[in-house]
Amino acid sequence: MTSSNAFSALAPYGWDEAWAEQFAPHDSEGLLPGRVVRVDRGQCDVVTAGGVVRADTAFVTPHDPLRVVCTGDWVAVEPGGNPRYVRTCLPRRTAFVRSTSSKRSEGQILAANVDHAIVAVSLAAELDLGRIERFLALAWESGAQPVVVLTKADLVPDATALSYLVQDVETIAPGVPVLTVSALYGEGLDVLVALAAGGTSVLLGQSGAGKSTLANALVGQDVMDVQAIRDMDGKGRHTTTTRNLLALPGGGVLIDTPGLRGVGLWDAETGVGQVFSEIEELAQRCRFHDCAHESEPGCAVLAAVDAGELPQRRLESYRKLMRENQWIVAKTDARVRAELRRDWKRKGAEGKAAMELKRGRWR
Ligand code: GDP
Ligand code: ZN
Repeated sequence: MTSSNAFSALAPYGWDEAWAEQFAPHDSEGLLPGRVVRVDRGQCDVVTAGGVVRADTAFVTPHDPLRVVCTGDWVAVEPGGNPRYVRTCLPRRTAFVRSTSSKRSEGQILAANVDHAIVAVSLAAELDLGRIERFLALAWESGAQPVVVLTKADLVPDATALSYLVQDVETIAPGVPVLTVSALYGEGLDVLVALAAGGTSVLLGQSGAGKSTLANALVGQDVMDVQAIRDMDGKGRHTTTTRNLLALPGGGVLIDTPGLRGVGLWDAETGVGQVFSEIEELAQRCRFHDCAHESEPGCAVLAAVDAGELPQRRLESYRKLMRENQWIVAKTDARVRAELRRDWKRKGAEGKAAMELKRGRWR
């Protein structure tokens, strides 16, 4: 298999020049590039140019739980062998990490190299802006570009009402495209398909938000139903039997793992700043640089609330999210976090700027 063959076979899974360059030293060692489509207790399925292979992760199972191979990782696998081993994992561009609530308080890696975090929000219920802010925070923290998709738009037939809802979300989501989709009538799906074509996406959102429906629309068949066919492993736990990473017919890749779907508390301090960028901007004009915006004299944030420029609700969400995050952050190892953040901060800023430039396309 020549490198150029590998290139065209893996391009649908997100392989690009930069990955190829990073992989070059492993290529000369005779290893194969591939992307992890599923991880499963010491083993993983890796899509390579020659198809999906099963590989053992013993070489890439460090003590640090955030360095454990996960769905979306690009890896170097041995060309054969029984077992065949994953030899190395390429440095991640982005990663979704969950802070566990266990006493050990170690993070858990859920998905790697995600470009778009698609936050599904149902229009069937009243918008919960605080919850959307929370999903956006975790998306920014991962390094991925968030996108809000308001689903079930057919339930809001009045165009003016719909545009107000979009505006409500836009005000709390600076730098985030907001789309409306009706899977029922196929409306708005073309825009989502085009967006997903530009990289690797994950679907986030509450249960019932319409994630499976969107996934089916993107994949073009009822893959998620297939995914729902579960078998019982030896411990009596349910495990999914299909892969968690799919190349989309319209281009791009979708990662959909049970862990990502059931996500609860998230570690998203940097993300909070991005979601509440207007508050962070105001805060720079506070008299005290460590102002808590509670009752301090010369507080520019409180002044903006008084002047009616900043909704009180918005300030309350900000405080709530900051409090939650401080609690989570305190539980998570500082070194690991610093390491993970290094590149993502830069990525997040770049991605946000690029997305703002492109925004017009999605409106
Ligand atoms: P998930 O839990 O986030 O995966 O949500 P599902 O995709 O399972 O959707 C939840 C419910 O919303 C299902 O009953 C869907 O049929 C319904 N639903 C999804 N998309 C639409 C839509 O565009 N319009 C309407 N009216 N219902 C939808
Ligand atoms: Zn202040």
